[in-house]
Amino acid sequence: MQLDRPRCPNELCPSQVDGEQNIIIHARTKNGKIRYACKRCGKTFTYPRERKDGGGNFQQRYACWLRRNSYPVSEIAFTLGVSKRTVHRWLKKTPKTEAG
Ligand SMILES: [Zn+2]
Repeated sequence: MQLDRPRCPNELCPSQVDGEQNIIIHARTKNGKIRYACKRCGKTFTYPRERKDGGGNFQQRYACWLRRNSYPVSEIAFTLGVSKRTVHRWLKKTPKTEAG
């Protein structure tokens, strides 16, 4: 089983183009989160990423997963209790991780 690897969140990072991630552990934050650094663009970031409105990261990924499995956006929005607009935003924001 493959571990859930962090991906560089930098939209301008070369890894967004060729998909080749080169993420290293940079430091640990006080609250126990790991801070990663992308060796390709030098950006540091935490993962899973925190959101003030409560765990958006999981929802986003779940939304993308559902979409990949041909669920209609309206269904995804209903399932996750968010608006369709939010789902569209997530789908746009989240890069496709695997083809097919
Ligand atoms: Zn990067």
